Amino acid sequence: MLGTLLVAMSDNLETIRANGQPILGKCDKKEVPLIGRERVKCDIIDMLTENTGVSMLDSGGAYGRAWQRNREIENWNNIPMETIRADKYTDCNENTHFDIDITYNIYPFLVSVLNIDKDTLKLREQFKEFAFSEDEKDNYWSKTIDNFLKENNLKGGYEPSFTHNTYGDEYNCLSQILQFTHFMYEDEFYVFLQIHGGCDIRGGYTDPVIFQVHYEDLICGCDVERGYSFGWECPECGERWVELDYGEVYLEKKYDQLENKLKSFSEEQRTLEGNKVIKQDVDKEARKKLECGEDIEIINSQPYHKGCKTPLIWDY
Ligand SMILES: [Zn+2]
Repeated sequence: MLGTLLVAMSDNLETIRANGQPILGKCDKKEVPLIGRERVKCDIIDMLTENTGVSMLDSGGAYGRAWQRNREIENWNNIPMETIRADKYTDCNENTHFDIDITYNIYPFLVSVLNIDKDTLKLREQFKEFAFSEDEKDNYWSKTIDNFLKENNLKGGYEPSFTHNTYGDEYNCLSQILQFTHFMYEDEFYVFLQIHGGCDIRGGYTDPVIFQVHYEDLICGCDVERGYSFGWECPECGERWVELDYGEVYLEKKYDQLENKLKSFSEEQRTLEGNKVIKQDVDKEARKKLECGEDIEIINSQPYHKGCKTPLIWDY
C-alpha cells in the first residue's frame, strides 16, 4: 500500500518534470489554415508530443517514452514514410542474407490518410461540448465516444462503427500504437483517433481527436505483410537493389545485365552464359552469380549505400 502510494507520488513528480521538456518542432498554428492537410500535420505533431504520462514502472526509463523522444524532433518533414532495419548474417552454407524489418513511421503515415474539412471542425466542436457536459465529464473516453455516436445517430457505414487497436494486428508495423473509432457523416468517413505515447499499453493514450479519413487506407496501412518482391533505393544517388528471395538483395543493374545475357530459345528454356536454364529457375541461377548485398553497408542496423550518407529507402 505504501509502495503503491510512493510510486504514485513519484510518477506525478516525474510527469510534471517531463512536461517541462520543450517541443523543438512545434507547429505555429497562427500560420496554418484551419482546414486541410497542413493543419493535419499541426494536429498530429500536437498529439505525438502530448504528455501521456510517465510511470516509474513503465519501460520508458532508459530511452524516454515516444512522446518525449518526439519532442526532440526538429524537422518533421524529414521523417521518411518507412524505416528499414536490416542485419546481415551468413548461413551455414556461407551464403549472405539480411534480416529485414520495415517500420511505417506514424507521422508521415497519418498525414497521408487523414484530412480536416469543415465538417471535421463542426464535429470536433460538438464533441467537445458533449464530452465536457455534466453527464459525460467523468466517463472514460471510450464510453463518451459511444454515447456521442448514439446520441447523434452516427453509424459506421457498410459495417457497424467499432474501435480498432493496432496493438493486436498480426502485421502491425507502425512506429506507435493507434486506437481509432470510425463513423460516417454526410457520406464521408471520420475517426476518433488516439495515439499511444508511451507508458503501459493499457494507458498512455492521447485524448481522442476527430479527423476525416481515407478509411480503407488507414485500415490497410496499419496491418501490412511485406510482399514477396520489393527493392531498396539510395535516396542520394538513385542506386537500386532488388530482392529476389526473402532477405536476399542484389544490385539491380547487375541483375539486369545478367538478364540481358539470357537467351531464350523456347517458351520454357533459356540459356545463361552457355548453361540451360528453366524459366522458373532464372532467379535461382542469377543468385549464384551475384553477390548478395553488394555495395550495402549496415550501420546501426540500417542499410546504407557504401559512400552515401542517407539510409536506403523502400522502393515498391
Ligand atoms: Zn548512393
